[in-house]
Amino acid sequence: MPYTTLVRVSAQQSAMRGAGTGMFAQERLAPFTWVGFYPGKVVSSLCLLAPGTGGAAGGAASVTTNMHTMGTAGGALVIIADPAIRTGVHMINEASAPLLANVWYAKLANGYVLYFAGGAGVEAGAEMLTCYSRTYGKRPYPIAAKGECSDPRCCGVANHRRHSELGLSPGEWRGALMAKHPRELHVLPESIWDVRGQQRDQDKKEKTGI
Ligand SMILES: [Zn+2]
Repeated sequence: MPYTTLVRVSAQQSAMRGAGTGMFAQERLAPFTWVGFYPGKVVSSLCLLAPGTGGAAGGAASVTTNMHTMGTAGGALVIIADPAIRTGVHMINEASAPLLANVWYAKLANGYVLYFAGGAGVEAGAEMLTCYSRTYGKRPYPIAAKGECSDPRCCGVANHRRHSELGLSPGEWRGALMAKHPRELHVLPESIWDVRGQQRDQDKKEKTGI
């Protein structure tokens, strides 16, 4: 996956203490504007579970031992980004009070992870911040406390959401994202919106405990 974004951004010192470099919007982004896809090398999540690779047991949730690793829908593949490359949405840090997440992301059925402007949009010049869910592992800086996360998927759950699949996200996101599909991108296959498939997979997992 290429280290590019679909909007104008710049990498600068993050406002989050201890978070290093962050990513800032160079233009105002309306709600659901596509920011970019998670970049990096796509590998099997099994690679991260092999001894000596730094992985830990525990399935899809454990692929988050590297700060720049993103699991994909279904959990079979992960995307590992190079932190030395300062372009790409992997530079987006996590929000904590008093700042709120202004960028959300969803795992698409085709394995891509799409970052987009949250429901309030993003102001020009603002640092872009997101919520990486409770499955992301330890961060070197504090994250939003209970009830302080702007991602609607984290509302009403004990400590942020567990899942980021588009199929398990609010139903209205699909239409809002389709409406903002950037023209410069080739038409993406309908399969990325296969939210019913994602729901089915999740139901199956919960039933079988896999
Ligand atoms: Zn959250």
